[in-house]
Amino acid sequence: MKAIYFQEHGNLSNVEYGELPVPTIAADEILLAVKAAALNRLDLWVLEGWAGLNLEMPHVMGSDGAGVVAAVGEGVHDFVVGDRVAVNPTLSCGKCEYCTSGRDNMCDHFAIFGEHVDGFMAEYTAVPARNLLKLPSNVSFAAAAAASLVYVTAWHSLIKRGGLQAGETVLVVGAGGGVNSASIQIAKLAGAGTIYVVGSNSEKCSLARALGADITINRGEKRWGNVIFKATARQGVDIVIDNVGAATYGMSLRALKKGGRLLTVGNSSGATFMVDNRYIFGKQLSIIGSTMGTRADYVKVMGMLFNGRLHPVIDSTIPLAEAKTALQRLQDGDIQGKLLLTFADN
Ligand code: ZN
Repeated sequence: MKAIYFQEHGNLSNVEYGELPVPTIAADEILLAVKAAALNRLDLWVLEGWAGLNLEMPHVMGSDGAGVVAAVGEGVHDFVVGDRVAVNPTLSCGKCEYCTSGRDNMCDHFAIFGEHVDGFMAEYTAVPARNLLKLPSNVSFAAAAAASLVYVTAWHSLIKRGGLQAGETVLVVGAGGGVNSASIQIAKLAGAGTIYVVGSNSEKCSLARALGADITINRGEKRWGNVIFKATARQGVDIVIDNVGAATYGMSLRALKKGGRLLTVGNSSGATFMVDNRYIFGKQLSIIGSTMGTRADYVKVMGMLFNGRLHPVIDSTIPLAEAKTALQRLQDGDIQGKLLLTFADN
């Protein structure tokens, strides 16, 4: 089968497009004929690698995929060959203390497709049947692949971990990335009050407004934390969702109201940085970490996609063979929404 993979960690020059064997499936798995795959910044971090990440090589990239069931393991009874399916990107054991209490994104054997196991930038991927949802005929493979990781991440952080209530003000730090677009839409659907977005350029700010942001601030603006503070009559906002980290964390704390919550869902600009602790205790802030989401969150957000309440933003679709060009665009950061890979008939 055709696949996008690497055999050694490194940069984009390590990414290869070529033939790999079709994966074999276990009794509880299905073989997915992938019809669409979406890119995430996670793909680039996994390519680079980190201490403790020990992958079997070659490693197939990609955390988001959707497609058609091409074969079923002997223990699978809920799906048949030909079913159109979406895939929950998070793998969990289903048995540990966390899984049995509905917190499966804390599973002792937590894994993500494309991060710990082979992903969806290939014509076929082995997927546990418990990760599948049947895809209604009115929802495209591209929409399902584009939606999975970002909506589940945004929902889990804003609603489950952040406890966003109707009427609360929200600041989303960043506008072009998939999780940011998803966060704006979910905040809007949850009935948030004013939604503020800090974006890196005017195109990204326009996109944010189209998705439901009320006030956008260009990140070129120095000290945008103060701008927010002034725009809220020196009150600040109830919730900030920040996946940028080092470059924005201080400003995000500054922009919060007394008693506010900072939802940290990643650190694309760096993981280690100084924090002015006076903001945290002085304003009695809560810093709440969140990553991915649970199976229940996945079912919830995909239901909202299926009934037309969520609309993933797709920047462009690119054939699998040109995935490297797409990864380069992702690295350069010049994107609005998701980059999708399409597959020739397989
Ligand atoms: Zn578990």
